[in-house]
Amino acid sequence: MRKEIVAGNWKMNKNLQQGKELCNSILNQLETSNKEVILAVPFTHLSVLAELIKGSCLKLAAQNCHHELSGAYTGEISASMFANLGVDYVILGHSERREYNKEDNDLIRKKVDTALSQNLKVIYCCGETLYERRSGVHFDLVAKQIIEVVFHLNTQEIKNIIIAYEPVWAIGTGETATSFQAQEMHVHIRSVIASKYGGEVANGISILYGGSCKPSNAQELFSQSDIDGGLIGGSSLNAEDFISIIKA
Ligand code: PEP
Repeated sequence: MRKEIVAGNWKMNKNLQQGKELCNSILNQLETSNKEVILAVPFTHLSVLAELIKGSCLKLAAQNCHHELSGAYTGEISASMFANLGVDYVILGHSERREYNKEDNDLIRKKVDTALSQNLKVIYCCGETLYERRSGVHFDLVAKQIIEVVFHLNTQEIKNIIIAYEPVWAIGTGETATSFQAQEMHVHIRSVIASKYGGEVANGISILYGGSCKPSNAQELFSQSDIDGGLIGGSSLNAEDFISIIKA
């Protein structure tokens, strides 16, 4: 029984007022859903939105956290600060942070440990570039991203990891992986996890697809047996689109 999850990643979009409006609009249109619905919003919005969503089925995610819990790290925010605000999830390993902030598997592994130590669940992003796919190394590359970042966790800890497969060439480009490509990679990811933790644990881990997922392709993607929902960027910035993806 895997949890189906739709998470909206607002990235660095929406000022606080606009964020409140979007959140209210989602709340108004959201019917009871058997899916977990998560909003990954800018840090500055978390405490205000935490009040807005109280009593609803929405959950909040941070878009990053530091790998230490406290200290002289000007401008950084720690997992304990998020946990203290009532945040449930943190996105780690997003390709934009790997690219623009030069985050590598080693650093992301430390962040995973810090987040889990504060009882945050981790949405761990992995995925290949177009060059890597064309070179035929995409399966090995994604396996390495998983092995190096979460394979040190024990059987209980790994259950707090949600994997988001996000082919870098599909993020924000309008180009989506076909449902075949996505399903094929999700099966691969599950088998990599099974090789370490066994089939039962692997079958319980939610694996989300991310990369230009929108109302027009969500149903086809989510109908695949190993796709357990989506991490949604651009289409999460509009309540109607986001709701229609949740319903897909
Ligand atoms: C993302 O950045 O996580 C993402 C999936 O973006 P988009 O949906 O805009 O491709």
